[in-house]
Parts: sequence; C-alpha cells; structure tokens
Amino acid sequence: MDYPHVVEQVLSAVQPHIGAGQVADYIPDLARVDPKQFGFAVATVDGKVFSGGDVDVPFAIESISKVFALALVLSQRDTKIWDRVRREPSGLAFNDLIELEIEEGIPRNPFINPGAIVVTDQLLADTGDAVAALRALLRAETGNAHLEVDSVTAESELRTGDRNRSIAYLMSSFGNMLSPVDLALDHYFRQCSFSITCAELAKAGLFIARHGVRADGSRLLEYGDTRHIIALMATCGTYDEAGNFAYRVGLPIKSGVGGGMLAIVPGHCAVAAWGPGLDPKGNSVAGGVALETFAQVSELAVF
Ligand code: GLU
Repeated sequence: MDYPHVVEQVLSAVQPHIGAGQVADYIPDLARVDPKQFGFAVATVDGKVFSGGDVDVPFAIESISKVFALALVLSQRDTKIWDRVRREPSGLAFNDLIELEIEEGIPRNPFINPGAIVVTDQLLADTGDAVAALRALLRAETGNAHLEVDSVTAESELRTGDRNRSIAYLMSSFGNMLSPVDLALDHYFRQCSFSITCAELAKAGLFIARHGVRADGSRLLEYGDTRHIIALMATCGTYDEAGNFAYRVGLPIKSGVGGGMLAIVPGHCAVAAWGPGLDPKGNSVAGGVALETFAQVSELAVF
C-alpha cells in the first residue's frame, strides 16, 4: 500500500471542508478550539506512521476514550459488564435519557454516554482508578510518557455535566451503578479530557488492529474481544449516524465531540482524523470526508 499517496489524496480531498461544521460548545472549553485545523495519521501494524496536517496538535479525546475503557474492562476477562449494558445501536442522541428510562437503566451500548458511564464505573470497580488505568494504557501505546488529562477541559465538563449527572443518577436509581455517582463521573469526565494528538491516537488504536497485541508485543485482549470492539465501533461508534458511516466509509469508527475519529482496519492499520467542526449529530465534518477518501483510495473498507 502506498500510504504516502493515500495521505496526500486525503489531505487534498479534505481541504475545502476544513473549518466546516460547529465546534462542540456545550462543553465551554471545546468552544474555544480553532475549527480551521485538521490532522490525519495512519499507523500500520508494523509500527510505521504516515501523516499530514496538524498531527501533533493535542485535542480532547472525548468519546473515543470509550473504546479504550471498554478494552480495559474486557481485558479483565469478565463478562459481567454485559449484564449492565447492551450491544445495540440506540437510534437516539448520545446523551438521551428517554430510552434509558424506558429500558430501566440498562444502556443500549457502551459508546453512548450512559453505556460509557457504566463501563467507566466498572473499570473503577475493577482497578480502583479508571483514569490511572487509561493513562497507563494510552501512555504505553502512544509512547508519550507525558500524555495527560487536560484539567481545564475536565473542569469544564464537570461544571456543565448536568445531563451526564442525570443519566448516572437515573441508572443508579435502577441499581446500575457500583460507585457513588460523583466518583464515577469524576473519572468519566477526566477520561473524556485526555489530551491526545492525531498521530498518538492512531498509535493508540493499533492494538485493536493487531487483534489485541500491544506495542510491546504483549497481549491485552483475546482475538474475540477485539472482534467484539470492532463490531460495536461499526454499529454504534458514530452516534446516530453509524449506518451512514458504514455506507460512506465502510470501516469501524469511533468519534468524539473533540472532533477526533479513530478507524480500524483489522490486520492492517489504525487511522486517526481530527477536525474540530462537527456535523449536527456530533461527528467531525472534515474527519468524515477524510475517512471516506481513505477508504476509497486505499480500498481497505471492510464492507
Ligand atoms: N464528554 C462528552 C460528554 O459526556 C463526551 C461526548 C462525546 O464525545 O460523544 O458529553
């Protein structure tokens, strides 16, 4: 695969879309991000990185952290998480409360906010410190020993997080929280506030592309666990647009409201795109164009 050519094609296709969309302003710290930035990186399973644009500018990982939290929970070889969260697309916004009330506090999937809060709560119970577990994983896989939570973003999430608080209390009322709501949410808000670059995000996703094998060659997950994560990314990873992204891109993707997107090509590479401007559902406009172009030029789509 001529990855430098693929990256070049992506950067040129994205050019007219850079700056399009709206930055996520419901989290005040994300509203100050310059939307006219774009980064793209491909990390291959043999350890090479091909990239272009603003690949070294850190941004908030947001919902993409949910993939790593789930991976850590599944790495405990414990399936009880699936009593607490289901594996179906929700068809509603990522922070919706109505479905959660109707379905008695059991979230539809681990990538909408209620499901992710349950996963973080489980990771907190399993490890004693969900953020520390995530920090260790992200640092090891990216090779950046200084990768850290942005405390300003975390504070901003905490201050404006009433919707997530409502979600967590609702789940607690149905007996689906292990830790006190405030403690679990403290970990959830900080987990979403990890500051990561596009090049780092691609590297961080490689253990999924390698079917569970980490950067140091050790195994975090069984083959079946990564198959499950990939399936959930494809069906639930891009908010209420997963069908459209399967059609447009044909790769498992997880996006975040910081404008990042992580796509996995099993056995080949992990691909990260970042553009802060979002479409109305919460997916990066430029990131979507980038991944669509990547799939077309590389012909690596799985569908
Ligand atoms: N921290 C964000 C929230 O909880 C994450 C949302 C997202 O990226 O989808 O609202």
